[in-house]
Amino acid sequence: MNAVRVSQPNQPLEFVEVDAPEPADGHVRIAVEACGICHSDSLTVAGVYPGISYPRTPGHEVAGTIESVGPNTDPFAVGDRVGVGWHGGHCGHCDRCRRGDFITCRKLQMPGIAYDGGYAQYMDAPIVALARVPEALTAAEAAPLMCAGITTFNALRHSGAGPGDVVAILGIGGLGHLGVQFAAKMGFETVAIARGADKEPFARELGAHHYVDSEASNVAAELRKLGGARVVLATATNAKAMAATVGGLGIDGVLLIVGAAQDPLQLQTAMMIGGRQGVRAWPSGTCVDSEDTMRFAVLTGVRTRIELAPLASAREAYDRMLSGAARFRMVLTM
Ligand SMILES: [Zn+2]
Ligand SMILES: [Zn+2]
Repeated sequence: MNAVRVSQPNQPLEFVEVDAPEPADGHVRIAVEACGICHSDSLTVAGVYPGISYPRTPGHEVAGTIESVGPNTDPFAVGDRVGVGWHGGHCGHCDRCRRGDFITCRKLQMPGIAYDGGYAQYMDAPIVALARVPEALTAAEAAPLMCAGITTFNALRHSGAGPGDVVAILGIGGLGHLGVQFAAKMGFETVAIARGADKEPFARELGAHHYVDSEASNVAAELRKLGGARVVLATATNAKAMAATVGGLGIDGVLLIVGAAQDPLQLQTAMMIGGRQGVRAWPSGTCVDSEDTMRFAVLTGVRTRIELAPLASAREAYDRMLSGAARFRMVLTM
C-alpha cells in the first residue's frame, strides 16, 4: 500500500510503499478514504512526544470503510463505515480506566503516535477506537470531526454554558470554525474572536452573532459589553491571545483551552477571584463522543470547511497546515 511516514524526527514526510497491516485479535483493517491533518501531527513529525518509535505514519482524523477483520470484532464487520480519532485505544487496567474515563487513560494510545495512523491507504485499529460514520456524511466531511470536531463539540457541551449564555470562540481556523458553528447551534450567544476585519463575513456565515477583531479592539472590553463570557473556548495556539480574553469573562466564566500554546500563559488573577472564574483544558473524547459529534453535525448542518489534497502531496499539505497558509482544514484523500 501507499503510505506517508516520518522516518526520523524532524525529517520531511516521505511517500512510501509498505505492506498493508494484517488485523490481529479485536482489530480491523480500515480502507482509509480521508484523513485530516491536525496540528498535533507535528508531535510525530518533530518527535516531541515521549516514546514514539520510527518510522511512524501520522494521522488521527481518519474516515474509511472496514476492509478486513481479525477475530473477535463483533459488532463491527467488513463494509462498515468507521472513523478513528485521537483516542485510539486504552489499557483498561489503570486507575483512570477503572473509573471508565478512557480518554485520560495513563497508557492512552493515539493513532499516529502509539501506532501507524491514517496518512495511508490502509490502517489497523482496535475496535474500541471505532466510531460509526453516518450515511449523511462523506468520508472527507467526517474525518476532521474525529479530532477538530469532537474536541470543540465535547468541550462546549461539558463547559457548563447553557442556552443564551455568551460563549466566545478564540480563533476561527481548523478547530475554531467548527467551534463557532457548534456554539451557535447549541443555542449560545456566540462571539467569534479573530485577527483582522476581513474574517468577519466568514465568522457571521458560520453563525457568529458577534465578531471581535482582536487587532482593532480590546477583546476583554468587548466581551464585558455583552455581559461577560460564560466560556471562552481557546482554539488559537497563542497564549497572549488567550490571556487577553480573561478580563472579559463573566461571573463563573471559564477560559477553556483546546489549542496548545508553546509559550506559558500569564494571567492577572485579582479580578478572577471576585468573578469566581477559572481556567480549564479539554482533551477531545472517545469514539462514542465522536459519534455524538457526527450525529449533531448531521442534525444541525455543521460542516467542516475542507481543502483536499491527494496522499502523495501530504508533505506540501502538512506544510500548508503548519505555516498557517491553509484557509480551512487540510484533508488527505486516498
Ligand atoms: Zn488532532
Ligand atoms: Zn488505562
